[in-house]
Order: sequence, then structure tokens, then C-alpha cells
Amino acid sequence: MKILIAASEFFPFFKTGGLADVTGAMARIFSQVKNNKVVVFVPKYKMSSGCLPPVKAIAGSFTVNVGGVEKKTKLFKTRCGRAEVYFVENEHYFNRSNLYGAKNADYSDNDRRFIFFCRAVIEGARFLGFKPDIIHCHDWQTGLVPAYLKNLYAEDTFFKKTKTVFTIHNLAYQGFFSKKAFDASGFPERYFNQDELEYYGGINFLKNGIAYSDIVTTVSPNYGKEALSSPKISYRLNGVLASRGKNFYGILNGVDDKVWNPKTDALIAKKYNAASFKKGKAACKKNLQNKYNLTQNPDIALVGIVSRLDYQKGLDIVAKTIPQFSGRVQFAVLGTGDKKLEDEFKTLAREFKGSLFFVNKLDEVLAHNIYSASDIFLMPSRFEPCGLSQMIALKYGGVVVANKTGGLADTVLGYGESKKPNGFFMNTFGEESLADALSAAFFAFGDKPLWYNMVANAMKADFSWDKSAGKYLKIFDKLIGRRHLKKGRLKNEVRRK
Ligand code: ADP
Repeated sequence: MKILIAASEFFPFFKTGGLADVTGAMARIFSQVKNNKVVVFVPKYKMSSGCLPPVKAIAGSFTVNVGGVEKKTKLFKTRCGRAEVYFVENEHYFNRSNLYGAKNADYSDNDRRFIFFCRAVIEGARFLGFKPDIIHCHDWQTGLVPAYLKNLYAEDTFFKKTKTVFTIHNLAYQGFFSKKAFDASGFPERYFNQDELEYYGGINFLKNGIAYSDIVTTVSPNYGKEALSSPKISYRLNGVLASRGKNFYGILNGVDDKVWNPKTDALIAKKYNAASFKKGKAACKKNLQNKYNLTQNPDIALVGIVSRLDYQKGLDIVAKTIPQFSGRVQFAVLGTGDKKLEDEFKTLAREFKGSLFFVNKLDEVLAHNIYSASDIFLMPSRFEPCGLSQMIALKYGGVVVANKTGGLADTVLGYGESKKPNGFFMNTFGEESLADALSAAFFAFGDKPLWYNMVANAMKADFSWDKSAGKYLKIFDKLIGRRHLKKGRLKNEVRRK
């Protein structure tokens, strides 16, 4: 099967959050299956000089129309495992410091940037002579690809057999732009009506991805259910989602074992497994305490946070709750995003020197070190499509304190609710419930047999991609009319090295 993955982020090259982890892992695992050929399209943002593996320019060019202007485009290529990764170049649109915006504001031409990208994915596939069976699109940045294929390219024989799958990683980001964006998109005016491409007088990329793809998925079963029933969770797209009926699925993300595994992780102070976590986590904790000037004490609970600093993640209530625990526990906070929240955590770091540190950047290495060192991982999200951070934390033996929403409810087993708990849920979203859940976790931390049991439960959780990737491949098979491999056979289908 020929699969084209189109996404605005791809690990290890460009990442602002879980989307990159997911597309990176999917490309690797889909391409390991016998007879699959996987091609990835991602924008060529500014690349760090140490970017590995090396990226090579492809000879030749093609043009992409944005706002009536033909823009010359080149592709650059590298490999990730067996997948071919193509970077779409446009100096003006993508050679910038950030992916989506700067100084707390989106780039004002994000509509044109991603109209360009969507059309470049389609024209780029043709340029390469790669006729995909499936185009797997991710999030609003690729939402127009299915819409183009079903309309402008409906009669195009090159894409006659191509089916589209659209995966929603977060309904809060929709790419909703004014009529000007519609005008730049190249769709004829007749499509500008509410039954086709118009959305409240403008154009909504996410809505069009949902409406025009052959299958829609989101990243956890529970978030899928919540989105269908709640305008608040779906950011008013519940009706559009419901209109897809049985063609809307919730499939839980996995965690890439090659990147996130305390047994093999070269970035952490000491590797460990389910049998050696006591020593291993203690060494990682000591190292982190030492490096970031926290009081050296193995018996103080260390709470980790690795997160975008955004309304969604509920860290505003964390900032308000931290002072009441000062001195009794430690906090390791890594995050970027909302300026006001960044300032609040900077103030907390000054105020609680020795028991809280805050690193205000994207730092993959520190993320690994926080996951391995933390006793408790905190994720009080207001809503959470899937959440990779809590799954990573569990794999590293962190007990999770979370709000029971979306994917958090699908992955964390609450104390008092499960026979094999690996976390504590807040009763509801709010400062008081957060303080209660944290207090319960700190209390349990003091009861070593209970605690070690919870850590062991956490490390046993199976978040392997095999399970999730198998579900996607089943959907792909169904779409192209192929019989799917029998249950449990994905592993056998994966190519040996
Ligand atoms: P979201 O995609 O909503 O941001 P997820 O929990 O699904 O949240 O994924 C977050 C991913 O981003 C995880 O891999 C996490 O480790 C990573 N991450 C978040 N903030 C940072 C940061 N400041 N530095 C490094 N990695 C980060």
C-alpha cells in the first residue's frame, strides 16, 4: 500500500507538541509493514544546522497556486527508517524562527502558508510520480487536502484511486480564516456556501478536513465521545463530527518505544526497567536535583511538568496551587507558550528557589530527564485529546495526577477506581480538587509499599504503537478494499531488519 502522510510537524525535525511524536512514529511503523511504501510531506521550516539525517535537494521544481500566483517550489528529501520524508520549500512562508507564530501571536499569513502546503502536498505527489492509495492528513494545517481532492481534483486521473484519512489531534485549533483565505485557496466562488466550504462567512480548514475526508479519526476514544456530545470540547464542531456517523473513529495514540524507553534511553542519568526502577529513578532524581539546584533529598516528592503553557493544559491553576505546598515537595517545570503563564512560573522559580525550577524553552533532553526523575507527573488539562506526556511519564514510572478528561481518562488508572492504579484523578477541574489530588499523591508517596506498587503499575502500561498502528492500517485496508491482516498479525507483518 502507498501511504502519504501530510503534516505540519514531524519528529525528529520539527516539533511543538505531540503531533510531531505521532507522525514520526506512524511513518516509521507504517513503513515497516511488508509491501508498504510511506512518503511524508512536511514544510521545510528553518532547519538547525545539526539536523540529522542529512537533507538533499531533489532535482527539478513544480508550481503551486496561492491567490492566483504560481509559486515555484522545490522538494528536499531525507529518510526516517524506511519512510521517505520530503520537505516542501518556500523561503518566504517557512524559513522563519517558529512554526506557527511569534510573540504570542499566530503569523498573519498562516492561511496562505497552509493553503500553499496543502496544494504542494498534492502537486508534490504528482511531481514525484507517487500515486498514493491513502493520504493521511493531520490537523487543520492539512485540512484542505481532502477538500481539494474531492472538488478541484475530482476528475484528476492521477488521484482517481486515492482515499483520504483525516486525523484530528486537537479541535481547539481549527484554522478559521476570513473570506480572503477562501479567495486565495483557488476554489471557485460557487463552493462558498454553507453546505460546501463556507463556515460563518469564512473558511475553516479543520471543518473541511472533517467534511471531505473519507474517514475521520481522533486520538483517543474518550475524546471522540466527548467531542460528539459537547460543543465546548469540540469547539462547536460536534454537529459536523456527528454528520460523519460511523466514519468517525477514536484511536488511542501510542508512544514510540524507540524514543521513550527508560531501558534504552541514552539521554537520562541512569537507565532502568520495571525491576530496577528504585535505583534508576533515584539516580535520575539526584542528577536533576543537582543540576537544577533543588535540595538534594531522595525523600521529597518531585513533581514533573513538561507541557505547552496553554489554557488547555490547566497550568494556571497549578501556578495558584503551588505556594501551599512550598517546602514540602519539589517541582520541575519545562514549558513554553503563554507569556503570562511563563512570567508566573518565572516568579515562582524565584520565590521557591531550591524547591522549584522552571526552564522556559523547548528542550528534548531535559524533557527525558524530567520524565525519568519525577515521582509524580502533573497534567490537570481542562481538555486533552489524547496526551502523550502522561503516557511517557507512566512508561518512566511516574505516578500521574490528572483531570479525568479525554485521553487522560483512557490511559490513567485512578486510585480508588482501579485495582491497579497508576494515578490520581481530580474530582473536577479546579484549584481545590487539584490540591486534593496532589495531597493524596503526596500521602501515598509516603507509603512506600503502596507507592512502589503504583510505580510498577505505571511501568506495566502498554502504549505500544503496534496496537494503534494496526487500527489505522485496518481502516486503510478497508478504504482501498483490501482484506486486513488478522488480529495480532501486525507484528508478523513488520519487516525484520
Ligand atoms: P500537546 O500535543 O497538546 O502539546 P501531548 O501531551 O500530546 O501534548 O504531547 C506533548 C509532547 O511535547 C510530549 O512529547 C512532551 O514531552 C513534549 N513537550 C512539551 N513541552 C515541551 C518542552 N518545553 N520541551 C520539550 N518537549 C516538550
